[in-house]
Amino acid sequence: MIQDIGPKHLNNHFEKKQPNAKDKVMLFKDKMIFVREMQNEAQFLSFEEFVSICAKKNRPVPGCIYIFTLGNEAYFLAEMEEMEAEGYEYRKMFDLRRMQPKEAVFAGATAWHLYYWYHTNRFCGVCGKKMIHDEKERMMRCPACGNMVFPRLVPAVIVGVKDGDRLLMTKYAGREYKRYALIAGFTEIGETMEETVSREVMEEVGLKVKNITYYKSQPWGFDSDLLLGFYCELDDDRPIRMDEDELSIAEWVDYKDIPDYHEGLSLTEEMMNVFKKQRKKLHGEEK
Ligand SMILES: [Zn+2]
Repeated sequence: MIQDIGPKHLNNHFEKKQPNAKDKVMLFKDKMIFVREMQNEAQFLSFEEFVSICAKKNRPVPGCIYIFTLGNEAYFLAEMEEMEAEGYEYRKMFDLRRMQPKEAVFAGATAWHLYYWYHTNRFCGVCGKKMIHDEKERMMRCPACGNMVFPRLVPAVIVGVKDGDRLLMTKYAGREYKRYALIAGFTEIGETMEETVSREVMEEVGLKVKNITYYKSQPWGFDSDLLLGFYCELDDDRPIRMDEDELSIAEWVDYKDIPDYHEGLSLTEEMMNVFKKQRKKLHGEEK
């Protein structure tokens, strides 16, 4: 999955520090990331390059916010609106998904999550004054009314509904992502994750489920999510009643027909593959 970057590790411990020459400077605008794609490989600006571009354009070097370290490289967000550099362009976050290596995709998605949080918390939601950065932890503070805002994660579930050899698979209506997915949805205020699972399955395909079991979780910065994967079993004998606003396809797929997309990023893909493997084992087709 996107976060499986071992032996490297994401260190997200908060620190106030300044960038060194080789550290990475991440820039975003709208839902786009400033990146250079070289033979399918995603490259980000180094601080050194960033400083020399600013000098060429007679611009002061803007402030940089330290966000995390991945392996030996520290990543920063630059506080500026627009940037130009040879070979680099603003690309859709969705394009980053198919670039290499995986750690660049993970770094980009996680940096985007933090950028988006900072960007949408520049002003106090209580009194409207400009927020300031706290010195000791990752938090925005209002100097006028004391309002404190911490980084926000949006919990959501991914659900593998099983019925013997079949897995319930879906395709979204009106989205860029065209491959098979699983039932998914956001947790609403006042419910448990298990209740989210039951409700989402009922809303999207009109079916009751039982034996809900937790599988794994995944940080998914593209949408500020923390995804929690669950498997469950069909507890219904009615046909699928698909929510056509949300989905274009919802169908039972035999384990033999589950495609392997070899993307290796998403919890959804891993859960489809794990189900397929389990059924193959059960039928003695794989050890
Ligand atoms: Zn305020």
